[in-house]
Amino acid sequence: MPIRLLPPDLVNQIAAGEVVERPASVVKELVENAIDAGATRVAVKIEGGGRDLIEVSDDGGGIPIDELPLAVAAHATSKIRSSDDLSNIATLGFRGEALASIGSVSRLEIISRPRNQAEAGRIEVNGGAIEGPMPASGAPGTTIRVSTLFHNVPARRKFLKSEAAETGRVTELMETFALAHPGVSFRLDSGQRRVFELASAADRRARVDELLGPEIKPDLLEVDARGGTEGTGAIAVWGVVARPSAARATSRHQRLYVNGRAITDRSLLHAVKEAFRGVIDPARYPVAVIQLEIDPGEVDVNVHPAKTEVRFRQPSAVHAFLMRAVRSTLRAADLVPMFSLDSAAAHGAPQATGAAPLSPARDGAARGDWFRSQPMRPQSGFDYGTLEAKLAQPERTPSFVPHADHTDDARRDVLVHGTDRTERAPFASHDDTRNARAALSALPTLLRSGAVLQVHQSYLIMEDAEGIVLIDQHALHERVLYEQLFDRVMRGGLERQMLLAPIMIEVGPRAAERAESLAPLLARLGFEATPAGPRSVAIHAVPSFLASRHVDAGVFLAELLDRDDLADTEAAIHSVIDMMACKAAVKGGERLTAEEIARLLESRERIERSTNCPHGRPTSLRIPLREIEKRFGR
Ligand code: ADP
Ligand code: MG
Repeated sequence: MPIRLLPPDLVNQIAAGEVVERPASVVKELVENAIDAGATRVAVKIEGGGRDLIEVSDDGGGIPIDELPLAVAAHATSKIRSSDDLSNIATLGFRGEALASIGSVSRLEIISRPRNQAEAGRIEVNGGAIEGPMPASGAPGTTIRVSTLFHNVPARRKFLKSEAAETGRVTELMETFALAHPGVSFRLDSGQRRVFELASAADRRARVDELLGPEIKPDLLEVDARGGTEGTGAIAVWGVVARPSAARATSRHQRLYVNGRAITDRSLLHAVKEAFRGVIDPARYPVAVIQLEIDPGEVDVNVHPAKTEVRFRQPSAVHAFLMRAVRSTLRAADLVPMFSLDSAAAHGAPQATGAAPLSPARDGAARGDWFRSQPMRPQSGFDYGTLEAKLAQPERTPSFVPHADHTDDARRDVLVHGTDRTERAPFASHDDTRNARAALSALPTLLRSGAVLQVHQSYLIMEDAEGIVLIDQHALHERVLYEQLFDRVMRGGLERQMLLAPIMIEVGPRAAERAESLAPLLARLGFEATPAGPRSVAIHAVPSFLASRHVDAGVFLAELLDRDDLADTEAAIHSVIDMMACKAAVKGGERLTAEEIARLLESRERIERSTNCPHGRPTSLRIPLREIEKRFGR
């Protein structure tokens, strides 16, 4: 399509605003143009962090010499024609404004040659004044040179960061492009230094692996789903997420694309995080590169001048689609973290820095290094410090009575069914003795022969096909109870036990009100409680489950009513069930019988997300056989 001036009414419909803020924004616009022109090779060179020179060359379709004046004119584009096109954008650019804006704040030179043109054409814009077009020599493709950026806007020039910082931004941007355009080769030079060079990759996975680096590769799981005709038109997602154990402390390692365009979108990141709910520490962020392909008519990219935000016509359908896709990837994967015996890794020491063998970087330090700038965490990737502290509190409050008076048999039932055998229990119905026996006999012979060890009355040790598995009995039981309770609550609510005489509890000033506003939630959990005064609440019914686990229901409810984070019911249910599971689960330091152990391990096979406790802490760690063999020098 030739370049044309957009009609004024269409100009007015386009999200207006300045896009040239810093060197990286110039590079962004120029590389987008190269990709839109079908380039297979994009070479970027910057000097002085981009303030002295930015040069982008491509081997794309080129600009006919007679269209060069339009290319640098405001509101002129070859990519859209009418407002209908505006709602169906398949290119990265469409505003027809970038070259004009860049030309007004720098010295801009374009040399371009379409394949069918014998020689190249050249045009120059200097602070808005145009020179050319004139014939020039040049290979097919386009080279755009931007020098002395902001020479006429001293305020902007003053706000630029150091050369290293601006170079870092450009590098990160180039990596962002490279992740989504595997067929294109990218090169970045900063002064005399080659920052990186990426040959065109065999496929998208190869490109992602190359950019993310070899350290994370074993942790990457592929997301690949399509469908969603309902409400969204055709939609597909491809990408990678790293195992929960490789989650990071910040969201910097998350990349989102829609139709090849890098975007920021809190809702989609939330969908990814939601898929990881229960398998990572909620304070951490999953590593993710997510590429959505959706009918261009379903997404509005004309929201923000920098085109980094989009609006979906059916945001919740897209959210749900992405969440399901990531969740099914996690479900299909073995998420037990490998426990490395390597002392450096185990203590979280930074891995070797600089260019790894597979790394495209020649100079690791100069890269944006969005992925590797943080030292790798230990393989289990878990911040034990903070979580342990968090866990310690609810667990060690005196709000439950240890069940020292329970016989082993009764305790076993409690452990396995989450109920007392004395109770007409919610779980007894589908977990009768016969079922339990069948489950037991399905366990590996090893287990039946008692070869699962409980050590320090806290951990279980067993083997699996790949090595030795260590299990935290409390964490695993907590997850088991959580899943069982959640299932019950979703299927109608927890069984409750009416009290002959109400229990009166003293509560804080707002808690009595909360007892009223949370009544529906409390009812689902098996509680019935009414305010009995400004600072007291009467409990008429308690969840049978808590009673059977000897958790003091009064103390539990008082603690619950003291919380001010229970407004949103969905989150509240998770959170309260979490509290219940935590208080009711076996503790570290409790000796378990062989049968209790067997049942617990059987549940591990059966329930979802058994690799992590509800707080995201791992329930299991695996020492791979190869690790052991290495240590024994075999
Ligand atoms: P937009 O990309 O929004 O159309 P720009 O100001 O970035 O606006 O570019 C104006 C026009 O110049 C584009 O529509 C395109 O036709 C042409 N153009 C710019 N850069 C290139 C390039 N590298 N190769 C081919 N054509 C280009
Ligand atoms: Mg453009």
